[in-house]
Formats: sequence, structure tokens, C-alpha cells
Amino acid sequence: MDQLLTTLWSRGGWFRAFTPPSPPSPLDDAPQAPPSPQGTPILDVPSDVLLLIGDYLNDAELLSLKLACRSTYALFPQTYKSLPPYLKKRFLPIIEKDPLGKGTVYCHVCNRLHPFNETTGPHSGPELGVDGKRLKCMSRDRFSPTGNPFSLSYTHARLAMNSHLYGPEYGIPLANLCTEQSERRELMTIRCSTSAKIMDDELFLQRTYALTVADRDVAEFRKCTGARDIKLCEHTSLFPASSPFRQSIPELLKKPAAGGDGLVPCREAPGSCGLCLMDYDITIQPCADDSHSIVIRAIHQLGSCRSPRDWKWARFSESYRIHIFYPSRPNRRGSTYSPGSLHKRWDDDEREACAVLGGGSGSLFGLSLFS
Ligand SMILES: [Zn+2]
Ligand SMILES: [Zn+2]
Repeated sequence: MDQLLTTLWSRGGWFRAFTPPSPPSPLDDAPQAPPSPQGTPILDVPSDVLLLIGDYLNDAELLSLKLACRSTYALFPQTYKSLPPYLKKRFLPIIEKDPLGKGTVYCHVCNRLHPFNETTGPHSGPELGVDGKRLKCMSRDRFSPTGNPFSLSYTHARLAMNSHLYGPEYGIPLANLCTEQSERRELMTIRCSTSAKIMDDELFLQRTYALTVADRDVAEFRKCTGARDIKLCEHTSLFPASSPFRQSIPELLKKPAAGGDGLVPCREAPGSCGLCLMDYDITIQPCADDSHSIVIRAIHQLGSCRSPRDWKWARFSESYRIHIFYPSRPNRRGSTYSPGSLHKRWDDDEREACAVLGGGSGSLFGLSLFS
């Protein structure tokens, strides 16, 4: 009920006259307001006044007021069935965060609420509806670049944010997004791990890819283009021939000045995607057994995940594919996110967390790849 009334309160105007103001802060030196009334005064006003208030609300808002308690329920004839789709679109996300809708998540595809499992996440298997049937709508919009074994769907991201915004019982823990996998390829095995955190009400992921390439296989490794390549995001691949956007990692193509096909060592060489919010760095180091280890750390910023059409999510998943030269899709180039800014944001937060923990190291939510 609180969320329903809060939504109406945000409507403003005369509705607020019936709603108690927030309690004053003890640090506030301003003159103290008279004690605020207890309870929910809006529900104490006469029915005819409530009916008058109803005249100023749209059907979705009216349904919110109707569902607030038994007395308001009896007052208004509006029903959920009578709402047109565009008002259901506004109403259902309100229910999703209200105790009435606990255990459900809003589906933009169906314009409905679906139940969710608290263990859901990438690789948890298909989402199931109340009848046990697979809900394809829940996994349609997901991160799935070529060769990248991570199936984070918009629903997973929304649920992680719901838990942060509305409480743990309204979504899933961040730990559900933190997975580790090994991808067997022709020449090597790629170990992938994911950490997640929320900063300023936006979801961030760190994906770490670790692989070892034998020096004798480097020339063949560089031929792993197209479907044999792996993409860090929908726009950036390891090698240039795989990305129609011409975004790749130049450090993997550098050859030693002395000649030969080997890799050239580097440490945390930075790069970023010009279309989605992704920064990365790459470290290449020689190993004792005539091979090189490659570690790529990619940071993704996914936004608040309130709508799959939000450009931060839309460029991350690119599930609504349009022609690659379509120029008007919002992307990073038209934003204020300069190359490297996500990396800095993530690392600054890690340092702050370490300082709070007394100089300890490691991610708060991440799974350690190199332990
Ligand atoms: Zn659905
Ligand atoms: Zn990208």
C-alpha cells in the first residue's frame, strides 16, 4: 500500500495536503514544523472527497488508490481489466515494487507480471511460468556476443536492481550475476569470471577473461576470426576481421621488433568501446613454458535497468538489431562518458572499499579468478 500511495503523492498538488510530510532532520536548524499527524490521513477523509480526488486521477492512478485499502476499494468501479495497455505499462511496475506484487517482475515484452525464482541468474536455466512452461520472453533480450559464454538477460539485470531499489525480497542478489566458466577453444581454454556492483543506482559488471597461448600457436590464434573469435561486447572483438564496427584489441596484433609471430608483453593497456559503455584493459605476460598469459578486464555500465530501451542497456545487449550504419541510435559517442571513465569509476570504488576494510584487497562481490 505504501508504494501505491507514494505514487499518488508524487502526483503532487492537493493530494499532498492529505499526506504527512517527512519527519524533520534532527540536524536541521530551521524552525521546527508542528508535529505531523500519524497514520495515513488521506484514508481518513470522507468518501465524497475521495470521489472528488478520483476525478483528477487517470485510471492507473485511480486503481492504485482503489487498492490502497478496503474502504477505497469499494469506492471506485475501475478494474485492472479495463485499463488500456499503455496504462497497464505504468500501473504494473508500481505493483511490482509493492507488497502486493512481491515475488514478481514486470515483463516489458508481455506487459505483465511474471513470478521469478530467487536463484535465477545467468546459466540458471530457462525461466518458468506458473504453468511450468518456459517463458521465452524473459530471456529474449540478453547479452550474447559471439563466443562469449554469459547469458545475462534484461530480466536478471532488472531483478538485481529491484533488490537494490525495493528490498531483497523484490529481486535477486548481485551474487547471482557473478559466475565463473571455462570455455574450451581450439588452441586454449578461456576462463571467464564476473563481478557485479551497483554505484549511484546503476549496475556495473566486471568481466575478466584469462587465457594462455603457446608461442608456437600465436600465428594460428590470430587467425581465430569470425565465429572462432570472442567478443568483449557486441561491437568489440579480439581481432579486427570479426567486428563490423572495426573495434578490436590492437595489442594482440603487435609483433616483436626482433621479428617473428610472438606476442608483445604489455601491462593494463587501456581501450574502450565507442558504442556501448564498456572499458577494458589488457595485460600480456610471458610464462616460463614458452607461452604467454593474456588477461583482459572489461567493465560494463548497464544503467538503472528500468527499461530495456534505455540506451545503456540497449547498446549492451543489442537485442533489437538494426543495420550497423543506422546513425541515430543513442550510443556512447553522443554521451559524456569519455574513454576510461568507467574503469576509473570501478577502480575508485574498489579503493574506497579497501580503505573501509582497512587496506584489504579484493572485490566485495566478485569471485576471485586468480586465487
Ligand atoms: Zn513475458
Ligand atoms: Zn560495445
